[in-house]
Amino acid sequence: MSRLTYVGHATVLVEIDGRRIVTDPVLGGRVWHLTRKAPPPAPLEEADAVLISHGHRDHLDLRSLAAIGRTTTIVVPRGIGRLLRGRGFERVQEVEAGDEIRLGPLAVRVAPALHGGRGLRGGGAVGYVIRGSASVYFAGDTDLFDGIEAVGRDGLDVALLPVWGWGPRVDAGHLDPERAAEAARLLRPRVAVPVHWGTYASPGGDASDEPARRFAEACAGEVAVRILSPGQCLRFGAAPRTGPDPATLAQAAQRKPMLPVEESGVRALRAETR
Ligand SMILES: [Zn+2]
Repeated sequence: MSRLTYVGHATVLVEIDGRRIVTDPVLGGRVWHLTRKAPPPAPLEEADAVLISHGHRDHLDLRSLAAIGRTTTIVVPRGIGRLLRGRGFERVQEVEAGDEIRLGPLAVRVAPALHGGRGLRGGGAVGYVIRGSASVYFAGDTDLFDGIEAVGRDGLDVALLPVWGWGPRVDAGHLDPERAAEAARLLRPRVAVPVHWGTYASPGGDASDEPARRFAEACAGEVAVRILSPGQCLRFGAAPRTGPDPATLAQAAQRKPMLPVEESGVRALRAETR
């Protein structure tokens, strides 16, 4: 059984086949002028690898990376490697869309993303598809892009889709809840989990769950959605096969794949699966 934990903003801990992968770790109390409204995250030192989608500060945070550890493998879009190596990070791997790398037993394919804007360090933006006994797409920051349906071509257990920014509105180059639902329809994951909401807000603002709820409503009847508040986790995918028992394996082969199962306390907004 695989598991993911929504740490907050675009930070997700993905655990598949015994590997712990963290996306865009931003763990501090502040980013720019924003303050963290979600509970402080649990430590992530045990991570095996970090995937960075792009060089905006709310996705690439050197202090959070240092807290995870300077010897952890960090995968970054081409153009950011030098910055990290210069800051003492020892295992930095640059990638671009179309690349595929191995992280132990897992394959990670680098997906395109459509995102830019001010303050973007390094090159462009990418997404990642992590594939082992279960598969997860992490979109990073993106708008709808041509060919997004191809990202889900080989099947996805989970799509982690950004549904908001941090202010009162969403700028170009991002998905709002309704466009994120369109992305979900094109990607056809077994379950979509909204991220990039409910974590940081400007002073006086609040980080409400409205974007996540709007996303779930826009997906209703077409794509199953699980809303995780920061700190909550979701189990998904099939249990890894251990100890080859032919009878059990034969039975398992006839069974339908397991649907994602949520942990207690996770609010589920269950839509019809395809
Ligand atoms: Zn960004």
